[in-house]
Amino acid sequence: MAGAQAIPLADPAKVKLEYDRLLPEIAKMPIFDDHGHPGYADDPDVDAMALPPGASAALRTRDDNPELIVAAKALFDFPYDDLNPEHAAWLAAKKKLPRTAGPEYFDGILDKLGVREAAANRVAMPGYLDPKRFRWVPFVDSFLFPFDNSAMRARNPDEEVYIPMQEKKLKREMQAAGMTALPSTLAQYVDFVTNTVEREKAAGAIAIKFEAAYFRSLRFGDPAEAEAQRVYDKYRFGGVPSTREYTVFQDYVFRRLIELAGRLKLAVHIHTAAGIGDFSNIAWANVLNLENVLRDPRYEATKFVLLHGGYPYEKEAIWLAARKNVYVDSSLMQLLLYPAAFSRVLEQWLEVYPEKIVFGSDCFPYNEALGAEESDWLAVTSGREALAAALARMVVRREVSEARALEMAKAYLWGTAVTLYGE
Ligand SMILES: [Zn+2]
Repeated sequence: MAGAQAIPLADPAKVKLEYDRLLPEIAKMPIFDDHGHPGYADDPDVDAMALPPGASAALRTRDDNPELIVAAKALFDFPYDDLNPEHAAWLAAKKKLPRTAGPEYFDGILDKLGVREAAANRVAMPGYLDPKRFRWVPFVDSFLFPFDNSAMRARNPDEEVYIPMQEKKLKREMQAAGMTALPSTLAQYVDFVTNTVEREKAAGAIAIKFEAAYFRSLRFGDPAEAEAQRVYDKYRFGGVPSTREYTVFQDYVFRRLIELAGRLKLAVHIHTAAGIGDFSNIAWANVLNLENVLRDPRYEATKFVLLHGGYPYEKEAIWLAARKNVYVDSSLMQLLLYPAAFSRVLEQWLEVYPEKIVFGSDCFPYNEALGAEESDWLAVTSGREALAAALARMVVRREVSEARALEMAKAYLWGTAVTLYGE
């Protein structure tokens, strides 16, 4: 079969047979989870983002998704078929570990899922996550908000939730640096940012994460230092910057951060997808806004990871991975899309740049009963199934041999991430 011309149609019976051959092999492969929010529901450092009140949720991401009960059965032998208050309490009790608990609990969850290592995109790392298995990805957006943000906050109810979280985080970072006010020059502010990120790297960080699309367009300009300095000088002591002025400052700091990441060998994770909250702007998050940065040879030393595959612009996202320092991560998509739809996405990606895509879960705690554990189970299980389905079709249509398909699976689940984060 190898070397034969590819055919356009696949016999469904043959695809099913091939799927049954591939899935058990794929189920045994270790995973590097490129993006997630592991931790307990009541841990405020689990994410730098919170669900705005009244926000809608896509069908599969709702907490009444019956698949989550299947997850609870698989992970905890949950003996019930619904989550009425009494049954939810049973499940929540499984997760009420003493605050002094060690890393065994979450290590055990990873072991059950076949996840060898996982990126933990969190504000800070807790004692209950094993640093050998959970690799820290801190957020850096707070550095983009040092001025009076009241105009931005008033824009819509989502920003009312998000902006104060950024302000609180920046305050915490300034306190850690022994600062009570903004430094007198922009250069000193950039030094503070640099020192903070260097400390995070020393504490084990493997990447920095931007969720900038929740606040502004991902189209970053390239202002001169003097222009950003003027905005800094004007608003350091107060006053509300115009959107244009704030954008100039943020563009400048963003560019310094991606250069810094290149120097420190930290990858740059960027949220590129429809976000949570009904006011999140899909045009701002469109991955093509980043094209001027991703294809800029000045940033060749920086490895970029497009989180959530640009969804719903995942077709566009994969073409950006042409650049050798750009990778596409599938986190969130395994939770948002059902396996049939996700397998079609993977099929397309595997047919373009199979060596540039990485698995991610975007696991997160739903509530006290349904945790990051169940969401991780769903992402991993769906991800493996979708991968087997995509590759089975490709094998039967003679696009790749079975051996090559299994190599592609290993790369997506583990090998490519090792290259990406290795020295
Ligand atoms: Zn996330």
